[in-house]
Amino acid sequence: MQRCEALARHSELPGGLTRVYLSPENRAANDLVLGWMREAGMDAKLDAIGNCAGRYEGNRPGSPCLMLGSHLDTVRNAGKYDGMLGVVSAIECVASLSSRKIRLPFALEVVGFGDEEGVRFGTTMLGSRALAGSLDSSVLKTKDAKGTSIEHALREFGLQPEQIPAVKRKRGEVLAYAELHIEQGPVLEAEGLPVGVVTAINGFSRLRVTLSGMAGHAGTVPMGLRRDALAAAAECVLAVERVGRSEPELVATVGRLDALPGAINVIPGEVMFTVDVRAPDDGLREDAVSQICARIADIGHTRNLDVQIEHLQSLGVAACAPRLIEQMERAVAAKGFRVRRLPSGAGHDGMALKDLADICMLFVRCKDGISHNPAESITEADAGAGAAVLLEFIEKFRP
Ligand SMILES: [Zn+2]
Repeated sequence: MQRCEALARHSELPGGLTRVYLSPENRAANDLVLGWMREAGMDAKLDAIGNCAGRYEGNRPGSPCLMLGSHLDTVRNAGKYDGMLGVVSAIECVASLSSRKIRLPFALEVVGFGDEEGVRFGTTMLGSRALAGSLDSSVLKTKDAKGTSIEHALREFGLQPEQIPAVKRKRGEVLAYAELHIEQGPVLEAEGLPVGVVTAINGFSRLRVTLSGMAGHAGTVPMGLRRDALAAAAECVLAVERVGRSEPELVATVGRLDALPGAINVIPGEVMFTVDVRAPDDGLREDAVSQICARIADIGHTRNLDVQIEHLQSLGVAACAPRLIEQMERAVAAKGFRVRRLPSGAGHDGMALKDLADICMLFVRCKDGISHNPAESITEADAGAGAAVLLEFIEKFRP
């Protein structure tokens, strides 16, 4: 908990927490984490994409590793635990083994990913994608709001972008990836449980919809002759909500809506809105996306509007490996807690790392399910429970 506090002090936002990829605050946080890794008995360095990477050898040097970790970047005005708790808990587990002089039949690696949230460049999971080898080098041309490219920012940070391909790990070098993270939802709190075992990270689809009608004078154009894009968008938002409510595990959200020209006395001629759809089953999600697109097209047709739907990004479900789920459940039970399985509604680095190795996750209860917010809060007891379960999992881990 003290280490989460210490990391939270490195922020560009005075009195709050904002720490984006390759910023001076990011460097200060990395220095702390690399120091803690070394204190815990690990070899630690910053890799070419800006991940803090620590390694604790097994009883035979050079053995494949169990990889642990989470991310060190934050959203704007963030909480102190999303990401950081997973990194400091993993370091604590290694410190415990090293203080007892225990070497396992495999190595342990702890990674503090440099970019998971994607706040600065709008591209998520740069650190884990580099490790998995799925980071296309063209991504490095992506610019932040000030026009600085990722490539340039890496160089300014003292890193060599041409070394990024060397960050990629081979399958077989990594036996599995395990991440501890706050739940970011209310399920564990509602059931009175400190920890939960994740079954899968839900897939998502993102759309951008543009409705074009006709702007006009709010006083002179009769209702029957209007092509009001915002009234149509209102119907679309409700249609998205209806589809989201049609299945218990499905969620669908319109998170942004811009109406043009945006004046009190003008009929809105054009509206852009976004749609975010998530589900623990790819078929269910794809079905929902088709239904949403069909409903929007219908509404546009009935109201004589032009409809344009762009598919921005989609990512399939990242299932946790059944054998790792079982091992994590045994660790939960061994520490005296009731086992509860739950899916993850939010995205995590495991989505990228599943291309490299089997993944699993442990959730720690958070207050009121709040995250991405300064009110994000966990108890010391729950942080302790999470770390104890993670340590049990590590010590009993069987590839
Ligand atoms: Zn996170």
